[in-house]
Amino acid sequence: MFLSDYHSHSLFSSDAKHTMEAMALAAHAKGINSLCFTDHADDCMQEADLSFTPDKYLEKAGIYEEYLKTCDIIGDRITLRFGMELSAANQNPQLAEKLTNLYPFDFIIGSVHNLTGTNDFYFLSYKEESECHSLMDRYLDEHIAMIDTGGFDVIGHISYPMKYMARYNIRIDLKDHWDKVEALLSHAVHKGIGIEVNTSGLRDPLGTTIPNFDVIKLYHDLGGEIITTGSDSHNTDDVGEGIREATGLLKEAGFKYVTVFNQRKPEFIKI
Ligand SMILES: [Zn+2]
Ligand SMILES: [Zn+2]
Repeated sequence: MFLSDYHSHSLFSSDAKHTMEAMALAAHAKGINSLCFTDHADDCMQEADLSFTPDKYLEKAGIYEEYLKTCDIIGDRITLRFGMELSAANQNPQLAEKLTNLYPFDFIIGSVHNLTGTNDFYFLSYKEESECHSLMDRYLDEHIAMIDTGGFDVIGHISYPMKYMARYNIRIDLKDHWDKVEALLSHAVHKGIGIEVNTSGLRDPLGTTIPNFDVIKLYHDLGGEIITTGSDSHNTDDVGEGIREATGLLKEAGFKYVTVFNQRKPEFIKI
């Protein structure tokens, strides 16, 4: 089975632990065929600092050179690609455009980590189920604006807040938001934007991929074809983890291919 990990963070993300080379070697050792580095474009948000300026990313000078150096060292042991995880482009479209043109990216994930004007869901605390439902509604709505802004290839970890709600032992049912989930997936299909199956939830109390199987199946049934798998790893222990399970879910949902990217163009690999 072709195994592709299209969501990984290296030392160029402030919340990650290992070099690109260490991540690539670990992924190769776990049988991953293709690894894409998707370092955060906006570490200031990860640090709960909302002063979202391009300088932060520009400070990562050397990131592309490091990627090329890593490709040289790794050779043909594993296919490497250069990507980025960009937070909600709709919240700062000018900056998003600047960032997406900084380097010759192969792949860009568009992720909603926070609602406009508020902190990353990671930093919030969750008490009431009703409050969680209202946050989910607004979270799903934010995607429509992000998709309309564009500039990315797949939507990252749809249902991300549920990972953090589960840490507070609050488990909401996405079926209560099904109209909005369907609206956002239909909009993505219409705009030619894909989704990712993020395996980080399997390593968390949530216990499922993000999004879960029902959403993957709905995306398939709506005619979606562009779908990537990613570990969202920030260290060598997590890289490649859950990719086999996620690829299995793709098959079960009816997909015959997993998507990889080269210079922002999708390629479909049989699974
Ligand atoms: Zn993310
Ligand atoms: Zn990530």
